[in-house]
Amino acid sequence: MDPNPIRRARRTKIIFTIGPSTDSEDMLEKLMSEHFVDICRINMAHANHDYVRTVCQRIHKIGAKVERPISIMLDVKGPEIRTGDVDQPLKLEPDEIFDFTVKPDTESSEGIRSIDVNYPNLINDIEVGSTVLVDNGLLRLEVLEKDATRIRCKVVIGGELTSRRHINLPGVKVNLPALTDKDKADTLVGIEEGADLFALSFVREENDLKVLRAFLDENDGAECRIIAKIEDQSAISNLHSIVQEADGLMVARGDLGIECPFETLPIIQHNAVRTCLEAGKPVIIATHMLESMITNPIPTRAEVSDVAIAIEEEADCVMLSGETTVGKYPIECVEALTKISKAIDQEGKKFTFAKGLELTTDKARIQHSAVIMANELDAVAILCFTRSGSMARGVSAQRPRTSPIFSFTNSTETVRQLRLYHGVVPFQMIFCTEPQATVARAMKILLERGYLKQGDKIVLVSDILASDRVIDSVQLRTVEETSE
Ligand code: PGA
Repeated sequence: MDPNPIRRARRTKIIFTIGPSTDSEDMLEKLMSEHFVDICRINMAHANHDYVRTVCQRIHKIGAKVERPISIMLDVKGPEIRTGDVDQPLKLEPDEIFDFTVKPDTESSEGIRSIDVNYPNLINDIEVGSTVLVDNGLLRLEVLEKDATRIRCKVVIGGELTSRRHINLPGVKVNLPALTDKDKADTLVGIEEGADLFALSFVREENDLKVLRAFLDENDGAECRIIAKIEDQSAISNLHSIVQEADGLMVARGDLGIECPFETLPIIQHNAVRTCLEAGKPVIIATHMLESMITNPIPTRAEVSDVAIAIEEEADCVMLSGETTVGKYPIECVEALTKISKAIDQEGKKFTFAKGLELTTDKARIQHSAVIMANELDAVAILCFTRSGSMARGVSAQRPRTSPIFSFTNSTETVRQLRLYHGVVPFQMIFCTEPQATVARAMKILLERGYLKQGDKIVLVSDILASDRVIDSVQLRTVEETSE
């Protein structure tokens, strides 16, 4: 084990959702330079375009200042249905008859209260007998009848109904487009402001991702990566093809826990992580990781165990939502995730899903050899040189047992994109024309920053070590005091 645990990199990456608790310059600088968050998520359910522009520019500025650029993920909402506005919260009573109206200004029936929904075609998608869940499943209604303008329901579980609440329709195939006009406008702002990742909500099939891919390609966003958020039963049925098409997956447990029986959530998570690792794609576990820390400075024991499972499964990232948007303890949340991640990493592996990854290319076989060598020799680190990031992504996909993957690249964009991947610690550095000088320069940086010390064994894997042609190589090196 590394004798200097402070320098031992956390292998599971942290995504935080930005909001009033974290969007100040001071807080962002702390999170980025002292607590080493990896990705900032902007949730387009709440952010307007001015906000996106302001926070993206702020994050880029601070990243340059602290010399640690992070990645930005824009979370676009896809086919999400919401209720309209109400002047006063409505208190729905069990057995009450209640209407969802799909045309503005529909006259209310006498004695029956109602609220608008933002999707007129809902009338055609929904059946008599369907369940309507509102506000994360807190309110439950059953459809009794429908006509051209309204869906009449009976309240099964009552409660308070406020404005713009999210509606879930378990098992109902909603015919909204995968990418709405709002999503397109949001995506254009994200591309302009240098977002690296686009998370698409309510992905139902691989074609939904192709629609976003085409839109990104047509609008200067070809370099951006797409994360498929799986949130309902159709996504689970189409998991394999979605994983193939996406650049990564997010297990959005909030909506999944409403759309599917909650007792199936651990199985869904497990299968999703396994499918991603076997396909060599990154996977994010999201929602309610440290929910109680919105108001408390320490996690519940159950939350610690839940986070530990995601880390043991070797998910690439864990994500914070309300904990860092409106929570009182955002820094403590990141600290808690870091502590749990490091503790689990010290324990060694429980799951080995990455063993199922097929090695279909020579490059993958080289990466595999590097990882086997690092595992067998208990190498302190794997050192890799990569321009586009693909070498580092490939090594990460093989999940080295303990060695972090120190990845040197000459591109800021690649540094930001590599924040997503398990175990990768990206550094930006100008490559020398002489391969040996490049290696020496990288070693010097790692020694100076305390990541390595003299005598450490490292495995070096690269495809750019020859100046005149590309040669893949794996080497075992012992760190010496070097100078350029
Ligand atoms: P949301 O997705 O924040 O877009 O609702 C997360 C989830 O449903 O878990």
